[in-house]
Amino acid sequence: MPDTDTVTADPPPGAEVPRRRPALSPSRASDFKQCPLLYRFRAVDRLPEIPTKAQLRGTLVHSVLERLFSLPQADRTPPQAKELLAPAWEELSSERPEWIDLFDQEDPDAVTSWLSSAEQLVDTYFGLEDPRRLEPEACELHVEIELGSGVLLRGYVDRLDVAPTGEIRVVDYKTGAAPREIGEAKAMFQMKFYAVVLWRLRGVVPRQLKLMYLTDGQSLAYTPDEGELIRFERTLEAIWQAILKAGKTGDFRPNPSKLCAWCDHQALCPQYGGTPPPYPGWPEPDPGEESVLDRAD
Ligand code: SF4
Repeated sequence: MPDTDTVTADPPPGAEVPRRRPALSPSRASDFKQCPLLYRFRAVDRLPEIPTKAQLRGTLVHSVLERLFSLPQADRTPPQAKELLAPAWEELSSERPEWIDLFDQEDPDAVTSWLSSAEQLVDTYFGLEDPRRLEPEACELHVEIELGSGVLLRGYVDRLDVAPTGEIRVVDYKTGAAPREIGEAKAMFQMKFYAVVLWRLRGVVPRQLKLMYLTDGQSLAYTPDEGELIRFERTLEAIWQAILKAGKTGDFRPNPSKLCAWCDHQALCPQYGGTPPPYPGWPEPDPGEESVLDRAD
């Protein structure tokens, strides 16, 4: 069981990825809760999904905010942050050239105007806090913990602030285009997931879970307590047991809801007249891995 958390980045495409034990991530746990068949499509079949430009913009802005905090404190200004957008996009798109195809190749301004729309999110971020006054312990922190029951939890925390008193604040930037009321329960589930992981890693219940909505400039802060995290840990264990049970048989049922409107796989879903591909069996390695797009919702 790991006793420290580490900062890691996605491996470049084509790089050899070490086989890791199956784990539960907040995104995949949310998928299973929302719709077991959606979980299967994403984690077991690993069907490709075409990101929207709004998702790409979220990924870009997350990357820029991570880079911003690596600058000297005095340099963390809006102009400096905006300067980081183009190089961050260059790096992201060189790692995933297929993302470039999402833009109209006939329109020379397509990428420029999209980058301008990312500037708005950066401006909204600066309206919420002044990064010159902050010194986070880590950004894009990879965390992993095995619970007593053997469930392995794994994920990435956007930002971790630790006060001199040792109090922990978990910060998550929300950049998605989906209506806030739809995303809020999912976001809080994700934050409690990280609260459990950090509590078990460090022995301290995080003082605050903070969501910063960069589309509308709102923020939401929540203080968990230990009893709640104990209950939530049991919920995570129950979800993992249900996933393993479905994984053995391939019985991942569709659970239609208004969230189907955001599902890329309606054409394969029996609820919409489709037929899923034959069940490929429980995947190895890791069906719990989060993609870079998951981490920027
Ligand atoms: S369309 Fe709806 S019910 Fe079907 S897999 Fe997607 S989320 Fe599940």
